[in-house]
Amino acid sequence: MVLIDPYGRKLTGLRMSVTSRCNLRCIYCHHEGEVSVGREISREMAVNVVNAASRLGIRSVKITGGEPLMRRDLEEMIAGFREVAPGVEISITTNGVYLKERAERLAAAGLSRANISLDSLDPDRYRRITGAKEGDLERVLDGIEAALVSGLKPVKLNMVVLKENECEIPGMIEFSRSNGVILQLIELLGDGPKGDLESVERRIEAQADGFLTREMHRRRKYFLDGAVVEIVRPMDNTEFCAHCTRLRVTSDGRLKPCLLRNDNLLEIKSTDPDEIERLILEVVRRREPFFRGANSDR
Ligand code: SAM
Repeated sequence: MVLIDPYGRKLTGLRMSVTSRCNLRCIYCHHEGEVSVGREISREMAVNVVNAASRLGIRSVKITGGEPLMRRDLEEMIAGFREVAPGVEISITTNGVYLKERAERLAAAGLSRANISLDSLDPDRYRRITGAKEGDLERVLDGIEAALVSGLKPVKLNMVVLKENECEIPGMIEFSRSNGVILQLIELLGDGPKGDLESVERRIEAQADGFLTREMHRRRKYFLDGAVVEIVRPMDNTEFCAHCTRLRVTSDGRLKPCLLRNDNLLEIKSTDPDEIERLILEVVRRREPFFRGANSDR
């Protein structure tokens, strides 16, 4: 079974926000495009959504937030996903501050890969960008190590490219090379002090040994002398939308067809997987690309 939306796009992944709570206050945060109503999705509902989605052909679930590690029951939730959908790959995006203590248990529960947000290796800059406390950057670095030791693979670092941290990209490439992690350079969504990712990509392209293009969002992945760098450019990118394979679940239990829209969500009112299956089919019918190219207004 493969879900296909009215624009011919296959749906293979679920991006589920499990809480809107967060321990950091990143200056640029898009809150996964959510306008939260304050409820938090129950573990039972989250598991039943994954159950229904897997029956409809979804192959991967990315857990996000807020900060997913704010949830004490995340290990149980992941074990629940694993039980109802054994073939589905489970990954997380986390700021990594609390990862050191939990990486092993998360991996044992069934988590297979991790994206860890890291916008700077400089403690002062890291604090300015993320609102972190003294010592948090060291915790994140320990969390990266714990993720690797626990066998999460791949571990990717998410760096949102800003004016303020652009100068750190060579150092971040070196850090990712020496630690065996993939660096994702992400274009800032929305208004804000965005770095010049286009020039950055041109420089990386000139130095790279080669690149390949991933199916999802047509992301380019460059290989540079042992380092791997992925470029994520969602803004005004028709390719990004044309190759979007994701359905979103908000932290308050709604199905959300697009990061950039809030007018076409569907509330999940029942924990019955059959009813959730019906809602998923309905929300897939509502999917439309946000950026459509030269002949549209976006
Ligand atoms: N707290 C978790 C974390 O830090 O990964 C999960 C939530 S966070 C919203 C998920 C990812 O979205 C992070 O890697 C973050 O850097 C990225 N992000 C947040 N706001 C963004 C924005 N305005 N533009 C681009 N990426 C953004």
